[in-house]
Amino acid sequence: MSTSAIETHALLKKYDERDVIRDVSFSIQSGEIFGIIGPSGSGKSTLLRLLDLIEQPTGGRLTIFGTDALVPDAKFPLRRRMALLSQKPVIFSRSVFDNIAIGMEYRKKVKSEISRAVTDALDAVGLAGYGKRSARTLSGGEAQRMALARAVVINPEILFLDEPTTNLDPVSAERIDDIIIRLNREKGMTVVISTHDMIQGQHLADRIGVIMDGALPQVGTTKEIFHQPTTTNIARFVGVKNMYAGVITENHDGEAIVDVAGKHIAAVTPFHPQTKVTLLFRPEDVTLHMEQSVKTSARNVFSGIIKKMIPSGPFVDVIVDCGIDLTALVTIQSSEDLGLARGVKCWVSFKATAVHVIEEQ
Ligand code: ADP
Ligand code: MG
Repeated sequence: MSTSAIETHALLKKYDERDVIRDVSFSIQSGEIFGIIGPSGSGKSTLLRLLDLIEQPTGGRLTIFGTDALVPDAKFPLRRRMALLSQKPVIFSRSVFDNIAIGMEYRKKVKSEISRAVTDALDAVGLAGYGKRSARTLSGGEAQRMALARAVVINPEILFLDEPTTNLDPVSAERIDDIIIRLNREKGMTVVISTHDMIQGQHLADRIGVIMDGALPQVGTTKEIFHQPTTTNIARFVGVKNMYAGVITENHDGEAIVDVAGKHIAAVTPFHPQTKVTLLFRPEDVTLHMEQSVKTSARNVFSGIIKKMIPSGPFVDVIVDCGIDLTALVTIQSSEDLGLARGVKCWVSFKATAVHVIEEQ
């Protein structure tokens, strides 16, 4: 059985009478990578500062390593077991070594011990041999890895990371992600990372909590969060582009037909006929083809006309007017190969199991 590293109950934080964190109850297991995702201003940094005991909550309970973290004497010993890498870490105009050694709370330790710890931390972040360099000469990615070394030099049991790669190029960001995974796997470090980057959240986290407007409406595996969001707000935030209000017209042992503006969509759901529902499915679960008779096991096949194409990185969102607008995600390459363009006729298909059904809100 895994144990909880962190447990919160009805956690509350007010700034100037405004609830910035409200009624947040969840737990983080020891040894997991827990992602906190949410829009800008939703409370990610505030929640991390509460969990790291930098800020005092206005109400609620907080337990860390089984200890009530909010009793006066608990804070100091608990803080020695945790570290936070903030969004914009301070860099001192000194050597890389000194910048990392600053993070060591045990100043009374002998020099050789500090030296060994800093060397280990430099190794862990891929900066071996950088100790004597002036920190000011580092690239953005190197500086962030130095800051990460400063956080891990004390060997924390819980590492908090507040949007650690937001200001980095994709290659530097991926390096940081890899280091985080390694620290977690090799040292068993519990990692709590906030991000507004969905790809990072999906790639790194074992479980994710979605924070919106200070509340935590859903906690789950990445599959649950990205494919089975519990509200339309969460769905919108995690990139579910296909969202339709409809009514269940029939249901045979969980295989239902849903009427959406006269279209009949097959979905897997226990809801009974007449239930008003919202259907949610991701653009990457929709396949686009140029012929109707393509071999597919998908229950839902519709023809339509391409209405709009929205490029995003190596992909393009293709919006197809099938009576209802359906969005399919295709690679730029296959979009070119298929000759996709506005006005072109095509077919889209998706499986009944790809459709997530929630009761109308
Ligand atoms: P995020 O990290 O998700 O962008 P924050 O936790 O930084 O969100 O902020 C959440 C809300 O709390 C915002 O509306 C922000 O303006 C407010 N806030 C954050 N810190 C303070 C503070 N020290 N004093 C007053 N309001 C704050
Ligand atoms: Mg923030």
